[in-house]
Amino acid sequence: MKYRTLGRTGLQVSEIGLGCEGFSGRDETFTKEMFGLALEHGVNCMDLYSPDPEMRSRIGRMLRGKRESFVMQAHLCTVWKDGQYQRTRDMEEVKASFEDLLTRLQTDYIDIGMIHYVDSVDEWKEIADGEVMQYAFRLKAEGRIRHVGISSHNPAAALAAVGSGLVDVLMFSVNPCYDLLPPDENCESLWLESSYEKPLLNMDPDREKLYETCQRLGVGITVMKAFGGGDLLSPHSPAGMALTVNQCIHYALTRPAVASVMSGVRSAEELQANLDYETASDSERDYASAFAALPKISWQGHCMYCGHCAPCPQGIDVATVTKFLNLSKAQGAVPETVREHYAALAHTADACIQCGACESRCPFGVPIRENMKEAAALFTGSSAK
Ligand code: SF4
Ligand code: SF4
Repeated sequence: MKYRTLGRTGLQVSEIGLGCEGFSGRDETFTKEMFGLALEHGVNCMDLYSPDPEMRSRIGRMLRGKRESFVMQAHLCTVWKDGQYQRTRDMEEVKASFEDLLTRLQTDYIDIGMIHYVDSVDEWKEIADGEVMQYAFRLKAEGRIRHVGISSHNPAAALAAVGSGLVDVLMFSVNPCYDLLPPDENCESLWLESSYEKPLLNMDPDREKLYETCQRLGVGITVMKAFGGGDLLSPHSPAGMALTVNQCIHYALTRPAVASVMSGVRSAEELQANLDYETASDSERDYASAFAALPKISWQGHCMYCGHCAPCPQGIDVATVTKFLNLSKAQGAVPETVREHYAALAHTADACIQCGACESRCPFGVPIRENMKEAAALFTGSSAK
């Protein structure tokens, strides 16, 4: 298992984490089997949005003796009513649900306290200026949550939250189909067939800006809906053909700032398929060829950070250099951290000999040679040969 730093929290999280959907309504034996498999493969983090009390208790028992080495991202503002989960902003309910969470998990802290499901800019403003954020910061000051985050499906709301400086972690729906759609307060538009009826071209600029801003400000992203709730794995996927588990996970993990994909699996077989990503070959992970052939979607001229253009005879990691270039262009200046990371690369853009081998392998027609020239000039003031 590979581990990544979750932005400025400094937490080390496994690339594959556990979602909680599959645990609700299941018994102790199932929970043990899933945790056993996950821990055996090095999974060290989980997202727990559901306040299902029995599930919380079962997970608490699984974490006995392991709590300190496990990163728990759990949600504020969810409550269990009439046998099902609901979102709430009622402070009495929010507080009672958090106390219940700690008791049932048998712990006195949560690593990331996620403010659940903020899908409009107006709602974000209410949260930021209101009692929910005050409560989250009080918990943080008391050490009962270590970091504050939000979950969202809407890039406009998420961007407002990330830009505020109030949140350290964003849980966001990341997959190649949702990434094509513009911001919308109604998250259901992400999975409506009608949203994908007309041909779609390139990633939505707001989503791209969101990922780049997260990377720039050190806000780590944990991913939900990497498979669009399973839709992307179906032959009737919005992309027009089935994608694979490995392609979807790799796509999410190659977005800027993403640290972990929280797998909302419902069986040991599904979990194993997610864990197999860690030992999958480059060609099994490679989403570039499949995406370039998707009947309904085009990413022409747009770098997907897929790495399909490798190897470069000069050893340049084109995907990483391009990511740094785009981050800097988005900000209008080179952030200091990006400059440092660029300088630490084994081979930088000024080593480019303009041979064009990479461009012949890029399925998206990215002008790589121009990008390398631009990167060399921007980062070191030199020129690619
Ligand atoms: S330049 Fe093309 S092949 Fe290379 S990482 Fe970007 S999209 Fe992929
Ligand atoms: S054009 Fe530059 S970046 Fe591309 S393969 Fe040749 S040397 Fe490498």
